[in-house]
Amino acid sequence: MEARECTRCAELAATRTSVVFGAGNADADLMFVGEAPGANEDLQGLPFVGAAGKLLEKLLGEIGLSRAEVFIANVLKCRPPGNRDPRPGEIENCTPYLIRQVELVQPRVICTLGNFATKLLRGDPAGITRVHGRPEVRTIGSHTTRLYPIYHPAAALYTPRTMETLREDFLALPGVLGLPPAAASPAFDDALVAVEPVGPEPVEPEPAPVPVVVPEQPRPQQLGLF
Ligand code: URA
Repeated sequence: MEARECTRCAELAATRTSVVFGAGNADADLMFVGEAPGANEDLQGLPFVGAAGKLLEKLLGEIGLSRAEVFIANVLKCRPPGNRDPRPGEIENCTPYLIRQVELVQPRVICTLGNFATKLLRGDPAGITRVHGRPEVRTIGSHTTRLYPIYHPAAALYTPRTMETLREDFLALPGVLGLPPAAASPAFDDALVAVEPVGPEPVEPEPAPVPVVVPEQPRPQQLGLF
């Protein structure tokens, strides 16, 4: 599998500067999966180096973790032009790379950031508003792990209520990491988080934008696994 030369998505291959494969600790217990590289990521060849990445690093710091200790990847490895949403065919083309990354890193917990990663790895169309903050055991490729869906940091940057929820979910992350390995006791999740009956997707109100300033921090090098 040669991701760096990938031409499965003709438009993305023609418009990208780099294939942003992933970065961090290849032996990490915790993996984050975002949506797709943005302009900064495309230029630097590293995931989450823009404002959303700074927020991710800040929230990691609040639970005593650094970026270098986790592995960070995206559903798509190439930037969609103009940061448009990933298309179903692009997700399908790129998913084998993500599955291979999960199989290589073998994380205990995968935090899916936002709707695209959450829907893909849960294999279910339920939106992030409904499923965030609830760990669930899932098998990705050959690896059984816990998925922990949370809001995408970019969604929290301008919406204080989403930021609050994201922070609450983040603060519960050490507890999720402390659970026994997923394959050993899949039923344990029910004890950790009560599952609410499935109802209609709640609609988030849209308060006035309030930018959140996140201080600069050093960045790790990209770790090419392919
Ligand atoms: N948003 C993402 O989903 N991924 C990145 O790498 C950067 C921003």
